Amino acid sequence: MSGDENHSVESSVAPPLVNCPNCEGLLPLGLGEKTCELCDAVVKVSHDATVNSWLEEKVACPACSKVLVVGVDKRPAKVQCSSCSVQFSVNPKVVKVELGCPACERRLRLKPRPGSREVTCPACKEPFKVTF
Ligand SMILES: [Zn+2]
Ligand SMILES: [Zn+2]
Ligand SMILES: [Zn+2]
Repeated sequence: MSGDENHSVESSVAPPLVNCPNCEGLLPLGLGEKTCELCDAVVKVSHDATVNSWLEEKVACPACSKVLVVGVDKRPAKVQCSSCSVQFSVNPKVVKVELGCPACERRLRLKPRPGSREVTCPACKEPFKVTF
């Protein structure tokens, strides 16, 4: 095996959660042209604050821990460390939404995904429906 590990770090800047102006459903995360998975509307999502934060975001090189400015206005981004030359990717932040189980009110953290789905509460095993 060569030392060709897949280095990556997670971005700490999350793009905003945007709802479809047509059907109010959740749009796929990220910026740019997004197709609503529920009604097929194409929506252009732009958010200057996110883009600026992405450009200026500092991450630590996973190989040598040197702190680098990403300087790329999208995620995932490819970055090459100026110190040890390792290439790594800065992946989009994993966004989780907190909500309470309707049966036992335990707080659950879920990855938002467009549409409805059934989840089972890990505490009381009660299945319930979530819609984003
Ligand atoms: Zn829609
Ligand atoms: Zn490095
Ligand atoms: Zn529960």
